Amino acid sequence: MSDTNICKVCSAKLSNTFKIKEMMLGLREDFEYAQCSECRTIQIINVPVTIEKYYPDYYYSFKQVIPKLSPLPFFKKLFNGYRIKKKYRKERYEIFRHLKPLMIRPSQKILDIGCGRGALICQMFNYGFTNVEGIDKYIDKEYNYNYGVNVYKKDLSELKANSYDLLMMHHVFEHMDNPYEELAKCNKLLKQKGHLIIRIPVVAKAWEIYQQDWIQLDAPRHFFLHTTESMRLLAEKTGFSIDNIVYDSNGFQFWGSELYKRDIGLVDENTKEYRRGEDFFSDKELNAFDLKAEELNRTGQGDQAIFYLSKK
Ligand SMILES: [Zn+2]
Repeated sequence: MSDTNICKVCSAKLSNTFKIKEMMLGLREDFEYAQCSECRTIQIINVPVTIEKYYPDYYYSFKQVIPKLSPLPFFKKLFNGYRIKKKYRKERYEIFRHLKPLMIRPSQKILDIGCGRGALICQMFNYGFTNVEGIDKYIDKEYNYNYGVNVYKKDLSELKANSYDLLMMHHVFEHMDNPYEELAKCNKLLKQKGHLIIRIPVVAKAWEIYQQDWIQLDAPRHFFLHTTESMRLLAEKTGFSIDNIVYDSNGFQFWGSELYKRDIGLVDENTKEYRRGEDFFSDKELNAFDLKAEELNRTGQGDQAIFYLSKK
């Protein structure tokens, strides 16, 4: 028996493979996936040799806009509470809502893993986090911004052990083909009682409803669609405890999956622009999708979640 028939998380035997089409770019090539009958993880059977092909230059994370870095005065202005532009209010909310439960101090050392060109760490710097850096194996070159904010083209194993207070993976972990190895590396990098935030899609209600058309399968880029059970196993065996799980899915799980069900890709094949919900659905329909997502989040059935781990 080859090890492609074994669940890469819990080692149970995988049966029932099925085909998932590449639909984000609209290539419609088939990839073989299976769902583990024990831990329920959905996983790709063979990682494509030429995965780069599925990350063209118009892929969304390569189009990050990097904000201009400005140290404390900007940060102070924001917290004085007046004349905060709507755009910044939203940005600030996005950054702080994930960090809030952790009580991270602005001076603590933070690493964003798989950060692209580093838009998030630059934003965080502007909001007062002075000790941020990023790594990404797949960027074209290293980026050295002002004030010591750097993005390295490195693997986790090349960084200094016991030196970070917080590691973050925002929709990155599902793209890694060796989850145990990567989490073990994360554990080494963290200081005692350091934190790790993992935001990922999770197998939930949208999978039950849409099956092969579920937008978060995202073949072949997503190697794993995890479950709370698979995350528990992974955390346990790599020296972490899971402190909290927060579901943060949104209406995209519905309108995106509806597009795939109608055989419409996420990227317009001609313009290479990402399609938007409002091009296909009314405001009323989109609002209903968002409300449905909130309801699923409340009952732990949303299709993406934030896992808060800490080093044991
Ligand atoms: Zn399994």
